[in-house]
Amino acid sequence: MTTLLDGKKVAAEVRIRVAADVAALRERGTVPALAVVLATGDEAAAWYAGSIENAAGKAGILVRLVDLGADADQAALGRALAGLAADRAVHGIILQTPLPAGVDRDALVSAIPFVKDVDGVSPLSAGRLMSGLPAFAPATAAAVMELLDAHDVPLRGARAVVAGRSMVVGKPVAQLLLARDATVTICHSRTRDLPAVTREADVLVAAIGRPRFFGGEHVKPGAIVVDVGTTPDETGKITGDVDAGSVQGIAGALSPVPGGVGPVTTALLLLNTVQAAGRRLPGA
Ligand code: NAP
Repeated sequence: MTTLLDGKKVAAEVRIRVAADVAALRERGTVPALAVVLATGDEAAAWYAGSIENAAGKAGILVRLVDLGADADQAALGRALAGLAADRAVHGIILQTPLPAGVDRDALVSAIPFVKDVDGVSPLSAGRLMSGLPAFAPATAAAVMELLDAHDVPLRGARAVVAGRSMVVGKPVAQLLLARDATVTICHSRTRDLPAVTREADVLVAAIGRPRFFGGEHVKPGAIVVDVGTTPDETGKITGDVDAGSVQGIAGALSPVPGGVGPVTTALLLLNTVQAAGRRLPGA
């Protein structure tokens, strides 16, 4: 039987921790504040920013939405980020993608101090994570770990395979698994005989953005499968990388899409913000 890695339940547990932290901070006179910087006409990005604002508001976290519009240039974005970086009342900063054409995202995220980089996107945060220094990991990568831990999945010595090598998911998940003593393989579009590699996995993290790509032939019986994918399929429906029907009865556990990694990611952004407000970094 394939059990469910229930992200909604885990997210609810994280939000209880957030509420307790927010209450303690407010008692000390600190109102945790998250700035979300937007420069796009993209509907999905605006929806995502709105959903963060909504979730943060419910948790008692102040959200400062800085919408510079789809015509914003590098200088305007740089000024906004520098202002937020220097503002002591702002504890976390998120730079929402996509950005206008021609804007250098790497230069911009480098302007976010790592103590405010609650989505772990800056090169400094990535380097600190790799070095084992206190840092925020990208929230999606941290959400994968939170889901595994909430279900007591043993990681020490386990064979973990991460499919996808992006800076927001694949690479940081691999780092986090390595830090927990898993033996980690990272796959990508040039990996030879992908099913043979993924079938080695006790823990398989699917993060390639191809709807229903991974089937029963990719999964070792009993493996724990975390599906990070959230890509529209041919009908426009947000779909995971794993064909849930095909791995049913083979995988020991599977995170659903929706309702798996996604809700935990949002909850962890809030947790990271309250940690930043309390000057506590993961790994410190
Ligand atoms: P990305 O930047 O496009 O990276 C995709 C990765 O998958 C690349 O490393 C690519 O390899 C690899 N890949 C593509 N096709 C492959 C194939 N056929 N076989 C093996 N590897 C393949 O995507 P991303 O930003 O990491 O996102 C991945 C998925 O996660 C997307 O569905 C995205 O929507 C989702 N996501 C979800 C959340 C959430 O909160 N739930 C957050 C972020 C992202 P190469 O490097 O060789 O090109």
